[in-house]
Amino acid sequence: MESVSLHGVNVPALGLGTWPMTGTQCTEAVTTALEFGYRHVDTAQMYDNEDAIGTAIADSSVDRDDVFVTTKLLRENLRRDDALASFQRSLERLGTEYVDLLLIHAPNPDVPIDETIAVMNRLQDEGSVRHIGVSNFSIAHLQAAVAASETPILTNQVLYHPYRDQSALLEFCRDNEIMLTAYSPLAEGQIATDETLAEIGATYDKTAAQVALRWLLQQEQVSTIPKASSREHLRENIDVFDFELTDAEMDRIFAL
Ligand code: NAP
Repeated sequence: MESVSLHGVNVPALGLGTWPMTGTQCTEAVTTALEFGYRHVDTAQMYDNEDAIGTAIADSSVDRDDVFVTTKLLRENLRRDDALASFQRSLERLGTEYVDLLLIHAPNPDVPIDETIAVMNRLQDEGSVRHIGVSNFSIAHLQAAVAASETPILTNQVLYHPYRDQSALLEFCRDNEIMLTAYSPLAEGQIATDETLAEIGATYDKTAAQVALRWLLQQEQVSTIPKASSREHLRENIDVFDFELTDAEMDRIFAL
């Protein structure tokens, strides 16, 4: 597995997205993913599946320390006391003493960013959060988060796939040593039938979905978290580390 390395941490470049899976379906998908070599799992308070993920990790033969776990504070939990209390509940549901990455799920104009970031920095100090970041932040929001934090903002998790231009945000992230985590990298599955991606993939015996993931992974400081529930998709999505797109193919995909 390739990783994105910055601020002294190696984040597995491809993780498992888990929304909207819950309950047994989610536990089974995470169990299978860990078996196939995934070492990065993305969840959120909003997804109502932290407990299902905790079960899969606890029952797996993979050590907790070898899995990069991200969760996100609900937009309604960004006030100091709500953030602290809700994060404790997240830890309990995940059955873990720490998360690798805690994100603000989305900006909330009613809560000063400094207030939430101060709580997140405190949780880092206490050891229950290894790294912090944000999600769905614009450049202006990111600037405010960076200014408020005593520690690096590790990532901004945003919508990014071949039909979605994020060049300005990505340039800002690179200039400021922030990873960009691409969510909905398969455009919620629409990518799978893309003819250009399928044509490029044919050269390497790869599917359109694999080409889309490869395209993201070949971009500096980009990680991605495709969601899959079936064994077939879970296997397919992690099988993207044995080929490389040419510059011309990368450009063809950027043009989509
Ligand atoms: P996605 O990963 O782009 O697409 C998931 C869909 O694609 C599912 O229907 C899945 O089907 C299908 N799929 C997976 N692998 C495939 C393959 N190899 N070939 C064909 N189809 C395939 O969309 P997403 O779930 O919206 O995004 C991924 C993750 O990002 C979420 O699960 C969540 O963790 C995160 N996310 C974050 C935010 C945020 O605000 N921060 C917002 C949205 C999503 P099966 O399930 O049937 O396998």
